[in-house]
Amino acid sequence: MSDRRHVIVTGGGSGIGLAIARALAATGDKVTIMGRALDRLERASRECGNALLPVACDVGDETAVGNAFADALTRNGPASMLVNAAGIVRTAPFAKTGDDVWNALWRTNVLGAVHACRQVLPGMRSLKSGRIINIASTASLKGYAYVSAYAATKHALLGMTRSLALELANTPITVNAVCPGYTETDIIRDAVGDIIAKTGRSEAEAMATFTGANPQGRLITPEEVAETILWLASDAARSMTGQAIVVAGGEIM
Ligand code: NDP
Repeated sequence: MSDRRHVIVTGGGSGIGLAIARALAATGDKVTIMGRALDRLERASRECGNALLPVACDVGDETAVGNAFADALTRNGPASMLVNAAGIVRTAPFAKTGDDVWNALWRTNVLGAVHACRQVLPGMRSLKSGRIINIASTASLKGYAYVSAYAATKHALLGMTRSLALELANTPITVNAVCPGYTETDIIRDAVGDIIAKTGRSEAEAMATFTGANPQGRLITPEEVAETILWLASDAARSMTGQAIVVAGGEIM
């Protein structure tokens, strides 16, 4: 792959996506970050010495995604790598999870990645080079109580990853999923806040809900996930395709 790749990271304004964007920019890649909130993207870029190109879009809106990718490709050139990190979580018992929640999660967690893949594939075929990495989850591989819609969308994202990898196996484009366990980001900070508010538990007790799932007894850091992406982005990983790479301290084996 060429030295200055253009990499697009959806959900790149915070958490895991931002750690990935930073790590790739540090290796010299041109990195575009996408998310709905432009101010958050701009702040993230400023904090990285303006090394990231902020482009706002809602990944669930295919027209908006088309416009955003056209803008990014014009400014940074064809994309040779896409990381789909945009995602949302809703927590509720199955009986209280309505169609509005199922549709919202499907639209962002599955269709969002589909829309972005559609945008980059023609260019990757022309470049004869490509890496697509979907940030899935341990919830792509097992169930968890009270997140039925989230787990279903993350299973679907992994199914899409595996099928697309096979479709592209006769090209130099690889498609993989990285499946983090509970990771230290706003998603977990918000969930801990929710548990405290709903149950009156202490912060330590609420946090133990998440650290206890990991045999190493801790949260994964976004930077650890980013290191896995750096390797998947390298030529050394050209035989890796259709894989679900778990970064979860042994939670799944
Ligand atoms: P964050 O909430 O920090 O990141 C999610 C990002 O997605 C935000 O930057 C958000 O930006 C963006 N986003 C959400 N909806 C949309 C949308 N419709 N269009 C464009 N961007 C959107 O959490 P994480 O970093 O933890 O999550 C990143 C990914 O990692 C998600 O897919 C999540 O499911 C997955 N994951 C997280 C785990 C964890 O424990 N934290 C564990 C396993 C997987 P904005 O709101 O501005 O749009």
